[in-house]
Amino acid sequence: MGNTAMSRRRQIYEGKAKVLFEGPEPGTLVQYFKDDASAFNNSKKGTITGKGVLNNRISEYLMTMLAQLGIPTHFVRRLNMREQLVREVEIIPIDLVVRNVAAGSIAKRFGLVEGAPLPRSIVEYYYKNDELGGPLVSEEHITAFGWATTQDLDEMLQMALRINDFLSGLFLGIGIRLIDFRLEFGRLYNNDEMRLVVADEISPDNCRLWDLKTNEKMDKDRFREDLGRVEEAYQEVARRLGILPEGGPADLKGPKTMQ
Ligand code: UDP
Repeated sequence: MGNTAMSRRRQIYEGKAKVLFEGPEPGTLVQYFKDDASAFNNSKKGTITGKGVLNNRISEYLMTMLAQLGIPTHFVRRLNMREQLVREVEIIPIDLVVRNVAAGSIAKRFGLVEGAPLPRSIVEYYYKNDELGGPLVSEEHITAFGWATTQDLDEMLQMALRINDFLSGLFLGIGIRLIDFRLEFGRLYNNDEMRLVVADEISPDNCRLWDLKTNEKMDKDRFREDLGRVEEAYQEVARRLGILPEGGPADLKGPKTMQ
């Protein structure tokens, strides 16, 4: 199924962790989740076996939950182990990062101890441009260069904070601290109307998740920092969410054509 389904479709875009194909109907795309991992602006590359299958499931689960809260997303439905149907959107070239606890670049930038709680949740904007290394930008840059309007930004910020509250509670309930995460938004056109929706994915690739009791990292930092047991960490997140694919980890490799 996997490979034949893939080759039938026209490829629109290939990213670091995913491939986008033309969807079955106009205005839809198929998002294919690879096992490839990259970090530090693509200078570190590797494979996390089964990551694509897990992220497809985890993102399906979280996006579905957001939709139930009335937060619009590009997600339509999961198609198979590695693919999901999504709505085609015009991606806003801004990554929103929501932070609850100091880690990664904010810890480095301000000399904060990793793991120090922030005085309040902080939202940052980064310009989506790999050649420039995704620079931190302000609202002033975003509106002046026309990447998004003040109104867009207000809407994105409101959604991001709601998502943060919801996801923080959801993960807390399964013994995980949501340290930070990154969101991507897209414009969805419907006749004359435009709505902003959450796009891309929400998974351990773009969230920092720490075990509540042990502070153990359960996300892509295990890959970035060569901590080992990367596959196991992604699996454990899925297991705690109650969505490990049936048949358990053995199912993750899938038939050869799914790889
Ligand atoms: N992040 C991401 N894509 C990026 C950069 C960051 O998904 O291109 C996520 C990252 O996984 C973390 C959060 O955004 O959950 C904040 O990342 P940070 O700015 O600390 O950058 P990093 O330490 O990853 O360089």
